[in-house]
Amino acid sequence: MIIVIKRFIAGAVCPKCGNSDSIKAFRDEEKSLMLRECVDCGFEDALSTIVNQTSELDTRVNIKESHKDVPSEPIKFDPNSIS
Ligand SMILES: [Zn+2]
Repeated sequence: MIIVIKRFIAGAVCPKCGNSDSIKAFRDEEKSLMLRECVDCGFEDALSTIVNQTSELDTRVNIKESHKDVPSEPIKFDPNSIS
């Protein structure tokens, strides 16, 4: 049994009728989709949650690559400087 929780998105504006706070969002776990629907005009939209996960992975890779660009300096450790 799949429990689908529909939530209103605060501040979301329907691209079809232009009403704000009329957009409900819910997840379809079976299809890995994030669905949006407008309760005023019946507008429906589907976003793939798989795409979102991929973009997160890309971000992590980019962060790793940016760290490589930073020149690594040898750590200077002077025991006499520690009081
Ligand atoms: Zn609408």
